[in-house]
Amino acid sequence: MTFPQNRGLMLVLSSPSGAGKSTISRALLEREERLSLSVSATTRQMRPGEVEGKDYFFVTPDQFSDMVKQGDMLEHATVFENSYGTPRKPVEDSLQRGEDVLFDIDWQGTQQVTAKAPNDIVRVFILPPSLEELERRLFARAQDSEDVVRKRMAKAADEMSHWAEYDYIIINDDIGKSVADVQAILRAERLKRDRRDGLHDFVNSLRSS
Ligand code: 5GP
Repeated sequence: MTFPQNRGLMLVLSSPSGAGKSTISRALLEREERLSLSVSATTRQMRPGEVEGKDYFFVTPDQFSDMVKQGDMLEHATVFENSYGTPRKPVEDSLQRGEDVLFDIDWQGTQQVTAKAPNDIVRVFILPPSLEELERRLFARAQDSEDVVRKRMAKAADEMSHWAEYDYIIINDDIGKSVADVQAILRAERLKRDRRDGLHDFVNSLRSS
């Protein structure tokens, strides 16, 4: 017996930089077979250790605006003076195949995706346990200059003001627990009645046997 498959869902993780979102994303992708990452396009400089096509598609401002003009972006926004956007096609293909897609996008992108696909999106906001810890993590990364870290700290307060636009809130004071919490959210959301398109026929077949 094959059970009806769900359409995939869009799992959005947002947080101020340094709240631990990338670590949580990495762990989720390792543990969840049916989940893949939406790789964004950005005009920002590549950081040491980042890989083209895996962390981001690094593009020029002209390439970025062409993608926007051609309608190739599901959403796009300016963050820290750079452009970021989600290429539409890979996301649509994954959802169609019944696979879930993980998004590491900011509140602006989340608002746009919510407007376009309110039934497919699940929004999770990750908060740091304290402002001191956020600052410590940003400096510990040491990938950005002190000036950039200062800007990101200033932006964090603004970013966090959008927490109430999300469905779930996680305070990341224990990475293992945070990952388990997001997995629990994913698991429950996959079981939601509204998401289980093929279930009518399945239940009818159960009732008629
Ligand atoms: P970073 O430069 O540290 O990789 O990312 C900076 C911010 O941009 C993060 O908050 C991240 O969530 C956001 N971001 C990354 N990709 C996208 C995207 O495609 N769209 C939007 N709206 N935000 C993004």
